[in-house]
Amino acid sequence: MEKTAVFPGSFDPFTLGHKIIVDEGLKLFDKVIVAVGVNNQKPGFIPVGRRMYLVRDIYSGNEKVEVVSYTGLTVQFCKDIGVKFMLRGMRNTVDFEYERNMMQINQSLYPEIMTVLLFTPPEYVAISSSVVRELCSFGGDVTRFMPEGIDIKKYLK
Ligand code: ADP
Repeated sequence: MEKTAVFPGSFDPFTLGHKIIVDEGLKLFDKVIVAVGVNNQKPGFIPVGRRMYLVRDIYSGNEKVEVVSYTGLTVQFCKDIGVKFMLRGMRNTVDFEYERNMMQINQSLYPEIMTVLLFTPPEYVAISSSVVRELCSFGGDVTRFMPEGIDIKKYLK
């Protein structure tokens, strides 16, 4: 049976830190669905469609990675598409506390769901979408925080 995990997030934008989680996740799962959560109240820094293009550009030709968007509760989305594994990354104890709470809430809403938390390797711990956004808004170079070959300017237009 094919094992699929949903990797949910805002991915505004998707960074090298996110990529390491997808790549590690592919060692455990046959397929990883990168699911971009849409919040209609918050348009975000990069429009959702372009956030999705960015991830698709990274994994073009790789059938094991699918990119989708969803609205509403992440756990409900997983239930709707019949996926029982939720992949998440953990950089530090702040992430840990947040993820533990989310795991407990999600499990109460969908008992079959299993959260799989992967540790971030030390060299990726300082990378976050918010740092990338901040640097971008001041015209800084974010190349080193982005997956290879990704020029953020292409998605900001
Ligand atoms: P959310 O708004 O759901 O936190 P993010 O796009 O910020 O969405 O993050 C999605 C997932 O990626 C979360 O599990 C987060 O902990 C993880 N993540 C973010 N940055 C990194 C990083 N540098 N290394 C590993 N995991 C990360």
